[in-house]
Amino acid sequence: MKELEELGIIVKENEPMSKHTTLAIGGPAEWYLEIFSLEQLKIFLSITHSKKKALFFLGAGSNILVSDQGLDGFIVRLLGEFEMVSFSGSCARAGAGVFLPTLIKKCAEQGLGGAEALVGVPGTVGGALMMNAGTRDLEIGTLVKSVEIVSLQGIENKIDSKQINFQYRSSSLAGSIICFATLQLQEKNKDDIIRIVQEFLSYRLKTQPIGTLNVGSIFKNPKGHFAAQLIENAGLKGFKIGQAQVSPKHANFIVNLGGAKAKEMKDLIFEIQQVVEKKFGIHLEPEIKFVGQ
Ligand SMILES: Cc1cc2nc3c(=O)[nH]c(=O)nc-3n(C[C@H](O)[C@H](O)[C@H](O)COP(=O)(O)OP(=O)(O)OC[C@H]3O[C@@H](n4cnc5c(N)ncnc54)[C@H](O)[C@@H]3O)c2cc1C
Repeated sequence: MKELEELGIIVKENEPMSKHTTLAIGGPAEWYLEIFSLEQLKIFLSITHSKKKALFFLGAGSNILVSDQGLDGFIVRLLGEFEMVSFSGSCARAGAGVFLPTLIKKCAEQGLGGAEALVGVPGTVGGALMMNAGTRDLEIGTLVKSVEIVSLQGIENKIDSKQINFQYRSSSLAGSIICFATLQLQEKNKDDIIRIVQEFLSYRLKTQPIGTLNVGSIFKNPKGHFAAQLIENAGLKGFKIGQAQVSPKHANFIVNLGGAKAKEMKDLIFEIQQVVEKKFGIHLEPEIKFVGQ
């Protein structure tokens, strides 16, 4: 690991993943790395490629449930150069590590709108593209012009949006390392953008348990239904296993009341699936990603 540190990469052994997830849950990462430039990333890949260790790229940790046992291999966070945004006409080129609310604020400063509906999604550009993050108003995939990726061998590639398949909370980018994305925005009045942003944020404040430890919606909405409605109608609002609770405010959120274990979260998710399936004959598919054993 010394050779990685000499490159300027931050390397931590047995780093608790609970420090890096919005649920504050997760055992230790064998090797947690912070990489600050494309150059560092490519050298890291060339050094580690032959080591055959697992590799996981972490965004803001706002859509993952990491196991209590933690993760083997390298857990990589892209920062520095990957947190930069630049503008050309009505397009923004953003690094994978840019926090979405920050991107929307920077776009507003340039008089560029069109992404406001995503302001309440507390993830990075990389995580959002991987998940095709979205709301009922907008999915990030619809804004994408191109995505710059590198392969595990460190080879750079720029993919046009036409070559990417964005679906409901998934994309064909799975398996790639996302480095940068160019998004097509629209010129708009700055005050109008700020007003729309405020409206989206106040709606979230009213309807979601903002300020608690959670990971957003746990389940995808089944076709023709809302997962939250099904869970609420099954009488599970407020239901708890250990320190994991179905939010009394929004039934598709599970809140860590403090010190919840991944196992309690998983048990609660399973219980919800069982009860909803028994009552309504509908299978709820998790939207979040389970990471680790
Ligand atoms: C309060 C709250 C509200 C939310 N509201 C919404 C919402 O309205 N809509 C919505 O869609 N989601 C929502 N989410 C979920 C989450 O914020 C999004 O899915 C977000 O896009 C995840 O981004 P992230 O950076 O946190 O990714 P992570 O959770 O860190 O990772 C998610 C996946 O992306 C991969 N990944 C991350 N970065 C890279 C990269 N550079 N290269 C390759 N793979 C990468 C990871 O390996 C993982 O598979 C919400 C979450 C919270 C906590």
